[in-house]
Amino acid sequence: MANFNDKKKERVACGGVWTKTIESTKLQTPKPFYQFSDFPWPDSVTEMCPDQKTVLEYIESYASHFDLVRHIKFNSKVLSLSYEDDSSSSINGTGEWNLCKGKWNVTVQDTPTLSTQAIVFLGRFSQVPNMPEFRPNNGPEGFEGQVIHSMDYSKMDSKSATNFVKGKQVAVVGFQRSGMDIAMECSTVNGVERPCTVLIRTPQWNLPADFSPWGLNLGYLYLSRFSELMVHKPGEGLLLSLLATTLSPLYHFHFTEVGLIKICRKLYIKHKNRLAKYGMVPEHSFLNECSVAVVPEGFYDRVEEGSIKLIKKAECLGFSKEGIVLEGKAETIKSELVILATGFKGIDKLKHIFESTKYQEFIAGSDDSATVPLYR
Ligand SMILES: Cc1cc2nc3c(=O)[nH]c(=O)nc-3n(C[C@H](O)[C@H](O)[C@H](O)COP(=O)(O)OP(=O)(O)OC[C@H]3O[C@@H](n4cnc5c(N)ncnc54)[C@H](O)[C@@H]3O)c2cc1C
Repeated sequence: MANFNDKKKERVACGGVWTKTIESTKLQTPKPFYQFSDFPWPDSVTEMCPDQKTVLEYIESYASHFDLVRHIKFNSKVLSLSYEDDSSSSINGTGEWNLCKGKWNVTVQDTPTLSTQAIVFLGRFSQVPNMPEFRPNNGPEGFEGQVIHSMDYSKMDSKSATNFVKGKQVAVVGFQRSGMDIAMECSTVNGVERPCTVLIRTPQWNLPADFSPWGLNLGYLYLSRFSELMVHKPGEGLLLSLLATTLSPLYHFHFTEVGLIKICRKLYIKHKNRLAKYGMVPEHSFLNECSVAVVPEGFYDRVEEGSIKLIKKAECLGFSKEGIVLEGKAETIKSELVILATGFKGIDKLKHIFESTKYQEFIAGSDDSATVPLYR
């Protein structure tokens, strides 16, 4: 997770995406599930979901503990990868990659090309923003305010971000974690005098900040490696297959709509987030949930006090001179600043690092919003 800074030639730190997040962002995964297996969190970190600074310190301390920094070449932008023998011989009869023996040419900016084995970790949640598409003449061109992506907001330090949104009528497009964090920050700065409007395309089963209903940490049941033992996987051996068959009733109990845990969880989340009160109960089942984010603490208190205003079913949006126009709705959402918390195109980023379209085509998937658990 060595950070590459696109614009400036300066040495930046380990920590990847955590080197620059929205100031108030916290880890969403409980820390036992976001931990290097050979390096536990220090005892001094008592919070279950530590803040950005603490996560960054943890990653940095890992790098220094294992003396990794001297092996990292900072500020080295990988421009492209190509396979030295870019022929069909690299793909075997079953269409699988057979690229372990050959060499990759790694083209790095301002550096002689390396010929080596390559493992690529570019991260999915940075650099290539996912921008909404607008109908012709309906985009932000005619808008008199400012439009930025959440990635530009998160690059600002706390003071600049505060000054940037201060006194402005802000609309945030998107209701995943960045959108919620930004809305919280705007509501802190502007209060009820200038509520921050959040435009939500589809309400989600987002989790409350403390997701341990009645003291039970549900993460242990569905985020642990144990839960992976309950499902069959491609290429599994006899032992794993037997285990999956034996444990599959538990899986069905655990993950189906009738499962007790599922119902408890659903009711708990609904209750904790006051979803029903704000018309935010999703129409889709919990089972279809792919992208789950944790609601920042106190988020619905802000909705209640009026410093955050939620507008749901904001599917097709466009701009007028004064703000955002939603399809089928006459009223303009007056705004001076629109922040697009609409995610990233991580898959595009990965695809385009390969010179050959053949390898680009091997990158599966196109929907960056979906987090598909392995083997399911
Ligand atoms: C705000 C936020 C909160 C998150 N919270 C959680 C969470 O609670 N739990 C969780 O599991 N995950 C979370 N994530 C997901 C997060 O992406 C992972 O936790 C983790 O940081 C991913 O590590 P990574 O090394 O794969 O990618 P990154 O941390 O994104 O690191 C990728 C690195 O590659 C560098 N890079 C990219 N392109 C090039 C190139 N062409 N040449 C050279 N270097 C390049 C980048 O500069 C960066 O340093 C969060 C992400 C964000 C943005």
